[in-house]
Amino acid sequence: MSELPNAPIEIDGNVWRSRVEQMLVAQGQRLTAPRTAILAWIAQSSAPFTAEMLVAELADQRHASSRPTVYRTVDWLRNTGWIARVQSDGHEHTYARMLPGHYHHAICTDCGTTLVVPGCEALQSLTSLLADEGFEVRGHILELFGVCRVCR
Ligand SMILES: [Zn+2]
Ligand SMILES: [Zn+2]
Repeated sequence: MSELPNAPIEIDGNVWRSRVEQMLVAQGQRLTAPRTAILAWIAQSSAPFTAEMLVAELADQRHASSRPTVYRTVDWLRNTGWIARVQSDGHEHTYARMLPGHYHHAICTDCGTTLVVPGCEALQSLTSLLADEGFEVRGHILELFGVCRVCR
């Protein structure tokens, strides 16, 4: 992903989908009809979603995805970094599309648009502040939440 530009970019749903499918195939998994339907739905989703929303939305399709298939696919996507939890409401988690790897994301909590912020420059001043205190930073996690240009 070294081709990322040096400014925040939005994750395109179709690009996301083709990359996920490439990884599935690379891992020797099959692109079954239910799986394809799940990925297609997530790719066109313009808002954060829950696993139960997927179950309900896909119930009418010809290749209906069973609840276990939906939950297994959501788990796989989360474990491989293609989606991340953006909100948790009791027992239900809301997810948004992500890119795997070390990126920082800015997520719109209204529509689920996710911007990828390349690089870690923003954290360097914090790292050196901590170094002044004798603390050696060895890693970080940073997600930003807010409201995108359209939703404002
Ligand atoms: Zn938005
Ligand atoms: Zn970073």
